Amino acid sequence: MSEMNLISNEQENLNPYEIVQTQIDHAGELLGVSKDVLDILKKPKRVLYVSFPVKMDDGSTRVFEGYRSQHNDAIGPTKGGIRFHPEVTMDEVKALSMWMSFKCCVVNVPYGGGKGGVICDPHEFSEGEIERISRGFMEAIADIVGPERDIPAPDVYTTPQIMGWMMDTFSRMKGQFSPGVITGKPLILGGSKGRNEATARGCVFAIEEAMKTLNKPMEGATVAIQGFGNAGRILADLLAAQGCKIVAVSDSTCAIYQPEGLNLRQVEHLKDEETASIQDDPDSHVLDRPEDLLGLEVDILVPAALENVITLKNANNIKANIVAEAANGPTTPQADEILFKKGILVLPDILANAGGVIVSYFEWVQNLMNYYWSEEEVNGKLREQMVRSYHEVHTLAKQHQTDLRTAAYMISIQRITAAMEARGWV
Ligand code: NAD
Repeated sequence: MSEMNLISNEQENLNPYEIVQTQIDHAGELLGVSKDVLDILKKPKRVLYVSFPVKMDDGSTRVFEGYRSQHNDAIGPTKGGIRFHPEVTMDEVKALSMWMSFKCCVVNVPYGGGKGGVICDPHEFSEGEIERISRGFMEAIADIVGPERDIPAPDVYTTPQIMGWMMDTFSRMKGQFSPGVITGKPLILGGSKGRNEATARGCVFAIEEAMKTLNKPMEGATVAIQGFGNAGRILADLLAAQGCKIVAVSDSTCAIYQPEGLNLRQVEHLKDEETASIQDDPDSHVLDRPEDLLGLEVDILVPAALENVITLKNANNIKANIVAEAANGPTTPQADEILFKKGILVLPDILANAGGVIVSYFEWVQNLMNYYWSEEEVNGKLREQMVRSYHEVHTLAKQHQTDLRTAAYMISIQRITAAMEARGWV
């Protein structure tokens, strides 16, 4: 880390595409990888921009824009979620597709990285409008996706139901039932048992190993979670089941805090109510600023929302022993350097949230075989893959006296490079 000397940069670069390029350069330098290899890795292979019309409930037609980025397919078809969010940009989608390549490689899933996004705020739309946006986007990207090409999945503000509609649109266009085109589907359409909880469950397996590394018990460990959606909310439940005390959670509206531990059932109930919000929880208090959650005195901090939340501005305030990145790209390189110097163990996104893509891979394998596994089998295989990957990364980090993120990148870059060499690309 010290060679990066990034803290001296006065202006922090928050462009995720440039951040991932910095991360690749840093790990590539430690590995001694050739510039030719790094040049390939630092750009996606293909980025598709689409615009498509959607009929709205009031009879008007609205044009939506979106992207699909495919980073590198040396090891297998590209794979990665689709997000619906008003702040989706091409650079964000490119960066997310690159993180997916490294994520798949670090946990030994035979895929390259892909990612997609539609610029929209789904909260503004009816269910019917969301269905038409989902189908419209799939139709627009159908030429470049497919079970052997590029396989989308859920991400921020997209759901199993949305995956179901997209699978249906693709299957109709191709004239054949094609469950393997997308993962994170409802069970009845070939979804995998355990997929909904997989990102959170995988993150819990990584946290358990990290706590063992620090010689700390899970029982009684305090946890703050930013983001209370698929990843954050399920993580709260799973960690609470391990005896952890969830003291703070936040969503896009506010952060709530109760040092004695939140009543999760009550908070979840409020989150599900159309007319209520987590800030109505009578047993906790609302933090002055939602981002204050990040600086709470806790054992485990889990960013589970969006990118660039731990930055040069607030990294010094982080007091947790472990930062488990359920979200993609929550920590900037400058903040990473500060956390490393403070001795905080950061479980990097490409490892910590890889449970989602691992079980998406299992889902795809089951779809191709048309033979389905029990939840125990899925969770057992997930645990095995997460625990093994954590220890590979941790061992390499110790050898090179570096942080887990750099070690994770080193492992993935080595694997992708070997595949590119074997294919004769370099
Ligand atoms: P989600 O849509 O289910 O939930 C997102 C949550 O973040 C919501 O609770 C929302 O209120 C909250 N949020 C939005 N803006 C916020 C803000 N400014 N501050 C605090 N909270 C905010 O999405 P998700 O699937 O849980 O994804 C969350 C993160 O996890 C993303 O970075 C995503 O890329 C990553 N991830 C998800 C999966 C998956 O399988 N779902 C897999 C790997 C990584």
